[in-house]
Amino acid sequence: MKRILFLVAFLVIAMASISQPAKEKGYSTITMESIQGQLEFLASDWMEGRATGSKGIYMASDYIASMYKVFGIQPFGDEVFISPTREESRQGVRGRLERTYFQNITLLQYEPGEDQRLSVSTQNGPGESAIDFGYQVDFQVQTGTASISGKAPVFFAGYGMTEKDFDDYKKKDVKGKVVMILSGFPGHRDTTSAAYRKFKPEVSSRMQYMINRAKVRKAEELGAAAVILVNPDTDPANAWTANNPYPVKGAYYEADQRLSSFYDKRMTLPGDTLSGNIPVFTVTNRVTNLILKESGVDISAYETQAMNAMQSLSADVPAKSVGWTSTVNASLINCRNVLGVLEGKKKDEFIVVGAHYDHLGKYDGWIWNGADDNGSGTVGVMTLARAIKESGETPEKSIIFAAWTAEEVGLYGSRYFVKNFPNSLKIAYNLNFDMLSRNDASDTKGNTMSMMYTSFTPKLKDLTEKNIAAKNLDVAVNFRGSATASGGSDHAPFAQAGIPATFFFAGMHPDYHQPSDELSKLNWNKMLNLIRLGYLNIWDLANDDSWLERQ
Ligand SMILES: [Zn+2]
Repeated sequence: MKRILFLVAFLVIAMASISQPAKEKGYSTITMESIQGQLEFLASDWMEGRATGSKGIYMASDYIASMYKVFGIQPFGDEVFISPTREESRQGVRGRLERTYFQNITLLQYEPGEDQRLSVSTQNGPGESAIDFGYQVDFQVQTGTASISGKAPVFFAGYGMTEKDFDDYKKKDVKGKVVMILSGFPGHRDTTSAAYRKFKPEVSSRMQYMINRAKVRKAEELGAAAVILVNPDTDPANAWTANNPYPVKGAYYEADQRLSSFYDKRMTLPGDTLSGNIPVFTVTNRVTNLILKESGVDISAYETQAMNAMQSLSADVPAKSVGWTSTVNASLINCRNVLGVLEGKKKDEFIVVGAHYDHLGKYDGWIWNGADDNGSGTVGVMTLARAIKESGETPEKSIIFAAWTAEEVGLYGSRYFVKNFPNSLKIAYNLNFDMLSRNDASDTKGNTMSMMYTSFTPKLKDLTEKNIAAKNLDVAVNFRGSATASGGSDHAPFAQAGIPATFFFAGMHPDYHQPSDELSKLNWNKMLNLIRLGYLNIWDLANDDSWLERQ
């Protein structure tokens, strides 16, 4: 018995002494020169801001694939058919499938077309009169993904809410109608009212667009043909004037024309249906007032009743209808994830180490280099690929290294990957790097990061603390355990699929989504330490299942 124990002890020590130098060897490849060398290329002007679908992002993806190859990481993207050369076919060589580093994705890109029309018709006894309003004079439109036209009666939905105690749609049929929705909620004008306390939304008013989006979705679910958004307190006409000097980018730019923006063009996966295809109009007060004129529907009476009695006076608007035409310019574009794999002892179980490599592109002579967002995370993935490979040890689990595309336009790269991952294989864990190299205003020591993680795998926190202590890393972590680990980055599709995930983030800064997100502003030491910490965590997670125990 003792002899066996002795033997076991001997084996454990022997194994540890094999893997320890390997682990150290890999760790030692994570150097300042290495991360700077890679990022100086990725965040250079030649990448033209790495906008999804652009030439610059193709260059970036080729660079990442080349580096995977240099490091000895195998391709994990789509297979392509390679035709034999004439010489080869003479020798009897057939065409063959070959795996690449690229996972190709088709996206639908769309923006408002030339023809945008909105009219309000009023029934007058046997007749009808219509007024046609001007685009960007009396209305603005957020289009669907395909051109659309129609005409329908109007339903005034008030705040457009469906709370248990305040439901604007209760016993109402809005199918096929134009739904008019107000901003706000019962009691929003009086913070001392009971209605205010009851219905105050959890998100701040800064996130008003999220509230509006949820209201539009609700109307769409209920069958609305179009939506008109109304803010009775602010006439949007003031924001649409055409002869302003535009301080468009704050300190960076002032112009006599509105700048084009990366938010003008939107993208989506084409999908199998046209869901989300209803036009959403924002209108001036004079359009709102014409629609409601002599209809019996009164906005201030609605608001008073909602606040004082918590009752909705939502109603059909009689004798009025709204017509619209909204054209869309759409095109299909190709983009690609860059995927490499280091095969482990288990060939059907994977850890996915990922970061998005796309950014916002260039507009009007300015280039959004995205050094921090997310050149830094991309370099993190590449650096980990090299480090783990160069350790010389085969991990238990296989490891996929992923540079995601199309994050900035809706997380499409990572979403596509998760949705199309073969059912026969398992993803055990996802590590997401997004913005590793800046300090937020409160981070005076320049060593703070936040780590969001799926709270059903609580040992991810213990693991991280253990590894910081083991190497005495200068990193102070704000741990943010979350059941859903949602939030606007590429761990979200994994977490939503029930896969344990961790998101490393160094901090928010004023250059976020500005042309000034430049190499010169980075905290390189912090970036280096976050990648080192990622390496230590991945090493343990790839080799030891107990860190992923579920609670
Ligand atoms: Zn980002």
